[in-house]
Amino acid sequence: MAERKIDKQSFDLVVVGAGPGGYVAAIRAAQLGMRVALVESQHLGGTCLNWGCIPTKSLLKSAEVYQQMKNADDYGLTVKEPGFDIEKIVQRSRSTADRLSQGIGYLMDKNGVHVFEGFASLTARDAISVSAHGAIVATITAPHIILATGASPRVIPGVATDSELIWTAREAMTPEVVPESLLIIGAGAIGIEFASFYNTFGSDVTLLEVADRILPQEDEDISRLAMRSFKRRGVQFSLGARVQSVEVKDGRAHATWQDGAGNAHNAVFDRVIMAAGIIANTRGLGLEAQGVATQNGQVVVDEWSQTSVEGIYAIGDMTAPPLLAHKASHEAVTCVEKIARTDNLEPLDPLSVPSCIYSSPQIASVGLTESQAQAQGISVRVGKFDLGNLGKAQAMGDMEGFVKTVFDADTGELVGAHMIGADVTELIQGYVIARKMETTEEELMETVFAHPTMSEAMHEAVLDAYDRAIHH
Ligand code: NAD
Repeated sequence: MAERKIDKQSFDLVVVGAGPGGYVAAIRAAQLGMRVALVESQHLGGTCLNWGCIPTKSLLKSAEVYQQMKNADDYGLTVKEPGFDIEKIVQRSRSTADRLSQGIGYLMDKNGVHVFEGFASLTARDAISVSAHGAIVATITAPHIILATGASPRVIPGVATDSELIWTAREAMTPEVVPESLLIIGAGAIGIEFASFYNTFGSDVTLLEVADRILPQEDEDISRLAMRSFKRRGVQFSLGARVQSVEVKDGRAHATWQDGAGNAHNAVFDRVIMAAGIIANTRGLGLEAQGVATQNGQVVVDEWSQTSVEGIYAIGDMTAPPLLAHKASHEAVTCVEKIARTDNLEPLDPLSVPSCIYSSPQIASVGLTESQAQAQGISVRVGKFDLGNLGKAQAMGDMEGFVKTVFDADTGELVGAHMIGADVTELIQGYVIARKMETTEEELMETVFAHPTMSEAMHEAVLDAYDRAIHH
């Protein structure tokens, strides 16, 4: 690699990757008085802000408003021929992402974080080189290095993404036209959100899922209702599906797969979205040379995000699941505070990390599912309450969905909560706080919930676990 004038600097901490893990680590470290460098090869804000959480929420908001326009008559309103402009929908999403990415730049300046643009590689346990346009542009030393490089779409054998017909989430976020027919491989969070978006705008969507149910990480009752809801809207599913090949011929994607019952399928689609999980971005970081251990492609860390090499830490999607932005940000703060020897630290409890899916209906959960709790030998008390029984849900016209609570029958601990329906991604935080505060079932039952709100279903689902629900 050609060497130009190299910027050589020392810091207290170097953070590699400016996603919701990395940029939060940089800010917290600066707050604690450290001299911080942040290295980013693409955009400040990482995948979440530029190509994930935020732009997809903008797209899904457009879908929600469009659906409401189509339902206007139900509310006594008249909308003449609801229509959409996909270019403007995408533009809105991109400008939201761009604005927020610039905001991260502002936050870095405000906190005195030195941002290096380029690709970082470890050259020693306390040093990294930064390269850009084929040359090393900086070498940075620091006693502490936090790796937060995230993850990228996983490709599966027989399917080669090509950015044109066979998309990853990135291309699926910037369509030039809405495809008439769309195959989505993987019915996890990404697959379900895109199914919701494209179905609303008229695509004929088929979802292939290798597991025997969609959203296999969610509670079974959630998967069941979500599938029923999507089927009602015309989305087709193939479960237990094994994809054999997807080939581009004459400008269309020809897919072959076998479903769970062993039936062979052969179909042609305008576009395909790969949504079969993500793999950690570890390539080129120099992990092996420095002895940083990985397992199944993920960096191995302890509860404080320390890797197998002292002074090198890893957070977020490049480590073990859950692979979620807010988990990365929380690990970032804990990791930095541990480095700064802050008192009274608690490691992250993965069972208190909420998961939110912004499809229509929305899905949100925290903790164990009913069957996971049973598999752990917990004797459970389960409560369930349908949103349709609530006055607020009826007034809003948002009756589909339910709230389910799973308690440890012996201790009264809320071990899990699962929701599907309108705005549940906002509601779930109530249960997350309850878990963090270690509240009992009694305290939850004694809590006053405002009327009329959708949150009353959270109260009723707790009451129901103890056979005290009022409205059903
Ligand atoms: P995921 O792991 O959530 O879902 C992938 C799905 O693909 C799984 O259901 C899996 O069984 C299925 N699958 C795997 N291989 C397959 C194959 N060969 N054929 C058919 N199906 C197959 O991953 P994702 O949806 O790609 O999302 C990536 C990560 O990003 C996840 O960890 C997810 O939690 C996170 N994410 C979260 C949100 C959100 O919270 N709103 C949104 C998007 C992504």
